[in-house]
Amino acid sequence: MSIRENINQIKATLPDHVSLVAVSKTKPLDDIMEAYTAGHRDFGENKIQEMVEKQEQLPRDIRWHMIGHVQRNKVKYMAPFVHLIHGVDNMKLLREIDKQAKKHDRIIQCLLQIKIAAEESKFGMSAEQAALILRSDETAQLDHIAIVGLMGMATFTENMEQVKQEFTKLKTIFDELKALQTPNCNLQTISMGMSGDYQLAVACGSTMVRVGSSIFGERNKNN
Ligand SMILES: *Cc1c(COP(=O)(O)O)cnc(C)c1O
Repeated sequence: MSIRENINQIKATLPDHVSLVAVSKTKPLDDIMEAYTAGHRDFGENKIQEMVEKQEQLPRDIRWHMIGHVQRNKVKYMAPFVHLIHGVDNMKLLREIDKQAKKHDRIIQCLLQIKIAAEESKFGMSAEQAALILRSDETAQLDHIAIVGLMGMATFTENMEQVKQEFTKLKTIFDELKALQTPNCNLQTISMGMSGDYQLAVACGSTMVRVGSSIFGERNKNN
């Protein structure tokens, strides 16, 4: 099936309250344009450099999602345009995003990444660390960021029961943290679910799925 058909088929299965980020990492501009022409506007990349290069060459109304691990010293490159940063996992990074957003007179939307997977390699913070950030006076004073939700990645496993438990855990944490509101924190979004597990994620409460290979085809390994 074509990219257009894949994207339309996935969208048709998603409830109205769930949005789709088409993960275009490693894929060429033509592939993104095919999805764009089909009406899609939200694209996700996991490397800042690659996202910047694509952004420069593609239509301005694309909403770019940074879904990968963010190095603080690279925030400045995406600050002029990034729509949503999914992987915020520490206060220092939040401070830097605020600082760079201010230079461009923007408010950058962020998700706090929560570690739900059993694997050591996955980034993210605990529910307690997220609560500290949401409660802190310093966060309340960062007026160029808006914390709009949480993001999580399940363990890479065939065991769907385990994945379900991890997604459910994120939904529970979300419901708890939603109560902690500061002026610039208003949790609305739960970003969870990828090609292999997005339907399960939606059933567990996801409001934003990040789908790559089911739209654009397989990537080379390690991406
Ligand atoms: C690559 C990636 C995805 C998409 O993965 P697929 O299995 O190709 O759908 C989703 N989220 C993150 C954080 C990724 O790095």
